[in-house]
Amino acid sequence: MKFKVYIVLAISVFFTTFSFAHDLHEEEHPDHKPHYDYTIQPPMSFEKSEAIEPIFTFSYTNSYDEIFYVQPKLSAEELNKQNEIAMTIAESFRPFAPKVKVHWDDKFFYVESDGFPNHPMMVGITAWQQQVPIPQKYYGNNAWRFPLQPIVAKMPLSAKDHFFRGAIAIAANGVPIFNPIKNDGRTDTFLAGELDKFGGHAGRADDYHYHIAPLHLQEIVGNGKPLAYALDGYPIYGLTESDGSAVKNLDSFNGHTDANGNYHYHSTKNYPYINGGFHGEVIERDGQVDPQPRANGVRPATEPLRGAKITDFVQNNDGSITLTYTVSGETRKVIYAVQKDGSYRFEFVDGNGKSQVENYSGQNRGGGGENRPPRDDNRPPRDDREPRGNQPRRDEPQNGEKRVPWIIQHSSEMDANRDGELTKAELLAEIEKAFLGYDTNKSGKIESDEVQNNNVRSALGGFVKQHRDEIDANHDSAITKDELLNVVMRMFSRADQESDGKLSKEETKDATPLERPRKDN
Ligand SMILES: [Zn+2]
Ligand SMILES: [Zn+2]
Repeated sequence: MKFKVYIVLAISVFFTTFSFAHDLHEEEHPDHKPHYDYTIQPPMSFEKSEAIEPIFTFSYTNSYDEIFYVQPKLSAEELNKQNEIAMTIAESFRPFAPKVKVHWDDKFFYVESDGFPNHPMMVGITAWQQQVPIPQKYYGNNAWRFPLQPIVAKMPLSAKDHFFRGAIAIAANGVPIFNPIKNDGRTDTFLAGELDKFGGHAGRADDYHYHIAPLHLQEIVGNGKPLAYALDGYPIYGLTESDGSAVKNLDSFNGHTDANGNYHYHSTKNYPYINGGFHGEVIERDGQVDPQPRANGVRPATEPLRGAKITDFVQNNDGSITLTYTVSGETRKVIYAVQKDGSYRFEFVDGNGKSQVENYSGQNRGGGGENRPPRDDNRPPRDDREPRGNQPRRDEPQNGEKRVPWIIQHSSEMDANRDGELTKAELLAEIEKAFLGYDTNKSGKIESDEVQNNNVRSALGGFVKQHRDEIDANHDSAITKDELLNVVMRMFSRADQESDGKLSKEETKDATPLERPRKDN
């Protein structure tokens, strides 16, 4: 009986939505020529919003008064300074309101968007992975963020050998910008023909992002204003200085310091195109800036389609999108739309007009482990909510220290019979204990006030609190037992390399001994 439960659990873990923030551009296309048209004008469909208010929406507070006057800890002077900085940054994003929303706290500036720009996408791509753009949920705890006041890094990191995953900047229209070099560490996505006329494409989660400077935004944000912000908090300007003068003396990251001592980046038409690294402090984790929002795919990642060229992208009146491409002398189409129930319908039309329909629930990204995102699932999910400033995480490996997955690190605490092995039964009992500890009103859910409880006596107690946002898979601010099971059992499955339903002595040899105090929660 129990065995059966485990099978079901294992399957659900396997098909659980995978979240990831980067695409794999595995294919090489050495013979594609640059095709990016720098003279392109923004399409007329861009709406230059005249509505000045309300651009600022505050996710974490309810009113203007609250955010401006009831922030603790800051003096009036500090608060004024903070708001002044934030308002200046907000100017770049203002033309895209109310679709793009911004807010800030004492440390960070936040950008919320669906990552879906108001221009045709994908057209001009000659090296296509068959992904298509779908809107993402970069909202709430999954919003983009960067420091209000950047801090110069002691050891600036170059994007030539870092940050091949995830975004390195956020454009004024709420679209993330990734490293121009793809994650093989050498291929320039632009030169390889992977980008559309606006410098973007859809990644493995069907998430649209740019890989070069979105120069088409300059006209919309206004001359002299930044087009984007790097995730270290420094602005990225266009091809000229704010006053229109020529840009001089850029460092290897495309940046320099102005007469007032302020550092900023510029866009260029050649590599590095945008910030070529980070002058300011960022935290690198698993090859990407951390934390950052994650894109959610609705279907398995697709394969490159050699010889395909995307020729048209139309948003139809019914809300569906038709992407047209040519391959092998045929014109084919992908027509796709999100349905009322949140599922996705994809219709693939071949050169003879014959079509095939595939539906994806939008909840699952099924289809198999081969297409796993390149991220280390051994570690517990990241907590993207608590701003950590520039302090390393407590569970960040220190120099030379081996990273031990949470489940292994804490296995001895959950090993109820102290036999040196952590069985699934022991782990399930611990999950039960932690869940009941938090769910004090017995509603079957850990609500947001319940998760504040500091008295839950379980090895999982701190884990639940620290990673509540990631455990809450459907983002309804309440954790169900299934949601908790999913996350914890996924960690267990990954650690259980022998797949025998228990973490053996060998598998848990890096566990923190009970008598030694642990270094994290
Ligand atoms: Zn990409
Ligand atoms: Zn400059």
